Amino acid sequence: MNSDATAPDLGFVSLVGSGPGDPELLTVKAKRLLTEADVVLHDKLPGPEIIESIPEANREDVGKRAGGEWTPQEYTNRRLVELARDGKHVVRLKGGDPFVFGRGGEEMEHLASEGIPFEVVPGITSAVAGPGVAGIPVTHRDHASSVSFVTGHEDPTKDESAVNWEALAATGGTLVVLMGVGKLPDYTAALREAGMEPDTPVALVERATWPGMRVATGTLETIVDVRDAEGIEPPAITVIGAVAATRERVLEFLRNRPGDAEDEG
Ligand code: SAH
Repeated sequence: MNSDATAPDLGFVSLVGSGPGDPELLTVKAKRLLTEADVVLHDKLPGPEIIESIPEANREDVGKRAGGEWTPQEYTNRRLVELARDGKHVVRLKGGDPFVFGRGGEEMEHLASEGIPFEVVPGITSAVAGPGVAGIPVTHRDHASSVSFVTGHEDPTKDESAVNWEALAATGGTLVVLMGVGKLPDYTAALREAGMEPDTPVALVERATWPGMRVATGTLETIVDVRDAEGIEPPAITVIGAVAATRERVLEFLRNRPGDAEDEG
């Protein structure tokens, strides 16, 4: 009950992961919340199929705007609080899992600091599902006993780069790079300099589980040329390590998405 008769009861925010894009990979809970919510704040990453399944009147795009510039995080934070204070049940829908390079942590902390109740609804992260649907297991008893999830967004030549590519090369495990299409030349070079074999298998999985998903494969040495020849664009996952070669051994029988195999690079 609210003491002020004019002020609405406080709303609620669900921080929801959408999975990689295939609507059938939404969790049962995510799907229910999308139909129940008063408002869904989303960006482009959940993919066209999931976004278009939400009634237009109930959704707000807080991703790239018409002009091409990004909606500032501060706007999204403010909007979440504003809607919740207005008594709304808000779904903040994020691609994959909200807490894997999704700024879900920042939004959760902001909500807590503003006294807004929230819940966290995990999603299937593209960091695991992207390789998976391409026939690449991120770990494999014979090939990789560890996996690291890394942002490719940092400039590896910068001294203050938060990613230690040398240390990552030394793990001997699988490296899964998100946001890593643009800087592919930089970090593949950094990994080679750090002693990783030039013939280490690498795969790029573009728009995993979306219509028109594509996979391109090469090695640490060839993958930049493969990217350019195939015109691979974000969103894509880069998988580096022996596991990336698993795909070739299973491809003939892999039936994940129509058109997948014919786009092999
Ligand atoms: N929270 C998300 C990741 C957000 S960071 C998750 O858990 O999946 C954005 C990056 O995620 C993209 O640059 C890309 O590297 C990756 N990504 C997200 N969805 C993808 C998809 N369907 N296919 C390929 N890469 C994807």
